[in-house]
Amino acid sequence: MTQLITQHLIDDAYGIETACAVLQAGGLAALPTETVYGLAANACDSVAVAKIYEAKGRPSFNPLICHVFDVCAACKIGVFDAVALQLADAFWPGPLTLVVPQVEGSDVATLVTAGLQSVAIRVPAHPIVREILQSVAVPLAAPSANPSGRVSPTTAAHVLAGLDGRIDAVLDGGSCAVGVESTIVSCLGPTPVLLREGGVTAEAIEAVLGADLVRSTDVVDAPVAPGQLPSHYAPRGTVRLNAAKAGDGETLVGFGSVAGDLTLSAKGDLTEAAARLFDVFHQLDAMGARKIAVAPVPEEGLGRAINDRLRRAAAPR
Ligand code: AMP
Ligand code: MG
Repeated sequence: MTQLITQHLIDDAYGIETACAVLQAGGLAALPTETVYGLAANACDSVAVAKIYEAKGRPSFNPLICHVFDVCAACKIGVFDAVALQLADAFWPGPLTLVVPQVEGSDVATLVTAGLQSVAIRVPAHPIVREILQSVAVPLAAPSANPSGRVSPTTAAHVLAGLDGRIDAVLDGGSCAVGVESTIVSCLGPTPVLLREGGVTAEAIEAVLGADLVRSTDVVDAPVAPGQLPSHYAPRGTVRLNAAKAGDGETLVGFGSVAGDLTLSAKGDLTEAAARLFDVFHQLDAMGARKIAVAPVPEEGLGRAINDRLRRAAAPR
């Protein structure tokens, strides 16, 4: 990947303005939140989101949390029922992430939700990230700002130790108060489900709900709507990989020199291919493609995460 010069910003007006400019230009900025440092990108800019995966070296696409300024901004991308609103009211701003149905036609890139119809949203409490969210006025996708497989960073120095030269900027806001990830609660079904323990305790959530919280392990066999947890989104047709050309009745997804009916990237650009992957899956479904062939994608950089998802799509279902 390209070597960047990572700006080391402090939390003064210049630092905050520069971080906003980086994000608005489709760059990556590591920001302090009350949980851990997040690696932020404009969630509505699919290429910017692809760069998160590239910088972290993540070998697979799993959905990312969207950070927004307030409930009003949250309601532009997610559908909140009474229980979700009750939890948002009680714990936002703070370390609670709510998974809710996505607003139809929302601007959030399909790479953020990995093609799912749900979206994970949080309103962080840290004053620096709040100021940035208010100023950029777009949701920010932000997983922890560390290379894949390493521990989550709670200081700017931790961020630089892992990502110096791989991101555009880090904004130093001191050490994170909570130090653990956000608690994740799914509000997709009839009752809320705890998907991950984190900064807000299950007991505190149960006190607000006045009921026991279902743990995700309790519901593995529960039916879920198509396109929702726990299944990964994949196109409905069968998928054949490493195809040089289309076979009988196949819809070909091209890459680079292999021109298809659709293409991941005609230039053979892996960042563009990652940014387009789930859009292409959705287009294949919209076209009613029953047999899908996909051109070879090199197993390097972002190609590893793309191939991981293509292999899952090709696996018997
Ligand atoms: P991280 O961004 O590293 O804190 O991890 C985000 C977590 O949120 C992962 O465990 C995801 O699986 C989960 N998550 C994000 N979006 C969704 C979604 N739409 N549905 C279910 N879980 C989600
Ligand atoms: Mg992480």
